[in-house]
This record gives sequence, structure tokens and C-alpha cells, in this order.
Amino acid sequence: MTDILGGQKRTVYCGLVDKSFVGQQISVMGWVNRRRDLGSLIFLQVRDRTGLLQVVFDDAVEKDVAEKASQLKLEYVIAVTGTVRMRTEGNVNPDMKTGEVELVGEQLKILSIADTPPFSIGDEKAGEMLRLKYRYLDLRRESLQNNLITRSKICHVVRNYFDENGFIEVETPFLGKSTPEGARDYLVPSRVHPGDFYALPQSPQMYKQLLMIGGIDRYYQIAKCFRDEDLRANRQPEFTQIDLEMSFVDNEEDVMSIAEGMVKRVFSEIKGVDLGDFPKMTYSVAMEKYGSDKPDLRFGMEICEIGNVMKDSGFVVFDNCLNANGFVKGIVLKGHASDLSRKDLDKLVEFVKTYKAKGLAWYGLTQDGVKSSFAKNLSQEKQDALVAHLGLEVGDIALIVADTNYETTVVSLGALRCELASKFNLIPKDTYAVTWIVDFPLFEYSEEESRWTAKHHPFTSPKNEDLPYIKSEPGRCRAKAYDLVINGDEMGGGSMRIYNRDVQKLMFEAIGLSDEQINDRFGFFVNAFNYGTPPHGGLSFGLDRLVMVLCGTDNIKETIAFPKIQNASCLMCGAPADVDQKQLDDLAIGIIKND
Ligand code: ASP
Repeated sequence: MTDILGGQKRTVYCGLVDKSFVGQQISVMGWVNRRRDLGSLIFLQVRDRTGLLQVVFDDAVEKDVAEKASQLKLEYVIAVTGTVRMRTEGNVNPDMKTGEVELVGEQLKILSIADTPPFSIGDEKAGEMLRLKYRYLDLRRESLQNNLITRSKICHVVRNYFDENGFIEVETPFLGKSTPEGARDYLVPSRVHPGDFYALPQSPQMYKQLLMIGGIDRYYQIAKCFRDEDLRANRQPEFTQIDLEMSFVDNEEDVMSIAEGMVKRVFSEIKGVDLGDFPKMTYSVAMEKYGSDKPDLRFGMEICEIGNVMKDSGFVVFDNCLNANGFVKGIVLKGHASDLSRKDLDKLVEFVKTYKAKGLAWYGLTQDGVKSSFAKNLSQEKQDALVAHLGLEVGDIALIVADTNYETTVVSLGALRCELASKFNLIPKDTYAVTWIVDFPLFEYSEEESRWTAKHHPFTSPKNEDLPYIKSEPGRCRAKAYDLVINGDEMGGGSMRIYNRDVQKLMFEAIGLSDEQINDRFGFFVNAFNYGTPPHGGLSFGLDRLVMVLCGTDNIKETIAFPKIQNASCLMCGAPADVDQKQLDDLAIGIIKND
């Protein structure tokens, strides 16, 4: 039989009880985390959101209560009233927040009993699948609770910051029309309009721009977004953005400085870290030096140009590549030339091939001399020139890619750079390397669709000076777009928007949308621009990612209370699941089963 709470109130959380409570009578409530039965003494650990408290029941003092305590099992929910005392010297537990004190139990209520849990609470070694199935039990884990607390605090800081800066929090609909981010939509069938569908927002992009046209001036929202994509690591089908938009700005700097202020405030209030002013790097420099538009700047190992010193080298791979106007570039791994065995190097060759590189050449200096896949093809002079150009010292090894495609060259080396940094522990812990990436290309060419597409989204404004080239040379146009990168992860991005309908039309035409398609997909939106549109721009941050960085976890599920797994299902509730025939009939939906 369980007891009722009967109006009893908790006087203090378990984890907050310290020396200052000694001698006081308190009531705590929580879960039985541990029980040790020493005959006449029963020791319990009671757990709540704030931590653990040791409770002692003494047979000699309160016989009935002690007897009741002997029935307790793990995860029973209890309320204990008693008096706080210091622990005896030998019993002090320095690893426990409340380890100096204990509560002598005088009254015990069993509020709820519990079956044996399928894994022990807090055991991160229990399989993740099992923990996700019983997520409500996994949620009792201290680290997960702390992450959710941090997440809540971040949102609080964000809201305060925007409020102080004149932004209004506005909610935008979930049930809307397809948005322009370009991923697959989650669709919701309409009962009232059989055969028609709402699309869940991939972001509030169009709504927030319409809010600017509507005169809201400065908007923000902590918004749920939905994208029905095959999930790569650390992606969730539903995720949260800190989304903002502001009017009467026409320069990237205006939005970037507001956003930068927010990120700085969050780091300072949550971590006590001053991030300083954020540097800016252009997209082309990021690609050239790091082979990525989200470079991890916590370590060096930048990509070097080698083609100039390897001209007419005598090594046919380089020569052919350079004669075909290709690229020869490399990175230098310092001090580890001897740590890469032939087998390791073969693995690295396979690694760069996954990034479309045709191969990987290496040139290292070890105590025993040159270690290289191509030195035998080079004259001593050329080798000396290479060593001097790269500043190679004994222990260093250069890893080189030659390819006729620029992207393949830098992207494969950029990925190799990160792979080696993690293999050789070159990434310092607890540092934050922050940078803006600016001057993105406006378009990217889709080989698949044989057409130019918008790199960001089609409402992104071109740089004023590139406007004349939208039609004639799309590849040359740069965007007024910016991304914020922390530790090699894209934290957020945005752009100044097109607010002139003629430019918007040009943009749509450049990505091959016909008038009919424009009308059908974005008609209501484009039409709004006819009624007075302020210059505006905005940005959104991935909240889940920000929480990951601030909590120091590399698993996005550790930042979300009820996450989904890779195949977009929820192991706890079983979604997605089939529905009643009646529900399908209401929606005029028939299911075709593929067996
Ligand atoms: N809506 C954009 C995105 O989700 C961000 C922006 O341009 O504000 O990528």
C-alpha cells in the first residue's frame, strides 16, 4: 500500500541540503537511488533534480519508520521528513555535493512503488536503444537533466537579450505551405480539403519576412523546424532554431553584430567565457585553407599550395594534373611521420578516395631518411624545393592530393586534416574557435539537375556589385550571406534578403523557375513585396547544436528530451505508426502497401 502526500510540502531539494541545515527539520521528496541495510541502520540515497541526499533510518530511534524503510526498493518515490545532522568524520563523502550531512528520517511516506528498472539509472553503458525506449527513466540521469537545465537557461538568456534589443517574439504556424530551404517536407493531410496537404515548416523563413513587410520590425522565435531527410549523424527530423529577422538594415554587419552579441551573451552567462570579437573569413579563403565552409580553427595544419614547386617535377601524376590545369595541394602533419605505418597510409588513401580524390601521395622526413610514395620520381633539387617550401623538419610528413577538380582537392584534404587531428589528438579541449564565414557564392551548380540552384535560399540578396552577373555569370555572384562556425560546426547562418521584386524575379529565373512555378510556390509571398517592403535581413541558429557545444557533448540526443533515432522513429512511443481505417477514410487517404 502506498501513502498519500496529503498536502505535505517539500521544504528543500535534496541536492541543496548543506551544513547550514544542521539541526533543522526538513522534508525532501524523490526517488530511492540506493539502499543499504545494516541491520538496525538503513541508509538511503534520495534523488531529485538537484542531486542526492543520504537519509538514515535508525531502528533504535523510530522502529516503525525503520521497518517501513526496509521495504523500500530502487526507484520507489518517497517523501521523508527528518532532522539534518553532520555525518561522523569517517562517513563524510567528498565526492557527493551533500556528502558532509545526512538526514535522520523521522517520517516516511511511500508515494509510489516501482518495478525493477530495465537498466540501472544513470548507467550510460546501458545500450542507447534500451535507454531511448525507456526515455523517462533515462531522463532521471544527472548528465541528461543538467543538459536540459542548460538548454532552458540558454533560452532564457536568448529571450532576455532579444527583448532588451527591441525584438518581439512571434509564433508562426506549423501548418503552412512548403518553404524554400530545399529539403523534403513533412506533409500533413487536410481532412477538410481532401487531397490537399499542409507542409510543416523547414524554417519560418517566409513568415518572418512577411512579418517585416507587416511592420513588426524586429522578430525572433525559438522555433521548431521539420525536414524529412535521411538523417546523417547528429541530425533530427524535428529540430529547434533560434530565428531572427530585422528591418531597415542593408548590410550584413547589422545582423551579424546583433547575432554575435547574442552568442557572446550566452557563452558568458552559461560558461563564464568571453569569446571576444568574432573574426571573419571569406568562403573562398575557408575553402582554400581548410577545404570546408565550416573550418575547425582549434588547430592549424592548413592546406598548402604545392603546384608551384612541383611544376615539371618528373612525377607523372603531378605533371599530368598540372598540365591539365589541375591542382596539387597538401597538408603537413608535424612530428608524426614515423607514427604513420604503411598500413595507416594505405587507409588514408582509401579515406581521401571517399571524398572523390583519386589518390594520396606522401613525403615525410624521418630519422631514417625520406619516407615517400613518390620521391624516387623527383630529382634531389625538386625534393629540396618541396622540403623548403613546406618547411618540413625531421618528423614531419606532407600528404598531397593532385586533382583536376578544385573542390575535390581541397575538400578531401580538409577532411583528411580533421581526421588526422582527431587521430593524433591535436584538438585542444575546452577551447572555442569561433569565426564568421562571409561572401558565400549566391548559387551552386547542381550536376544532378543540370541547373544553378540557390546556395542558401532564393530570397538571399546578391552583393550589390554582383547584381549585373546574375543572368550572365551566376557562378561569379556572391551573396550577402553569413554563417557562424564554432569548433568546425555550423552554428547558424542567414542573409540579407532581396526586397526588390525585380531582383527577386531575376533570382527565380536564374534558378530556372518559370512564372507559373513562382506563382504556384511563392505567389502569395512575391505578391506581398508589391505593397512596401523594408530592406531586411536575418539569421537562424541551431539551438540543439549550440546546446551541444555548451554542454560539451557530441551527441545531439543528449540535448533533447525525447529525440528520434536515425530512421526518424521514436523508440519510446513507436511513432510513426499506423492509424485506424476511419482516420484514413476521413482524410480520403488510401495506403499502397509494398510487400
Ligand atoms: N531560414 C534559414 C535557414 O533555416 C536561415 C535564414 O536565412 O534566416 O537556413
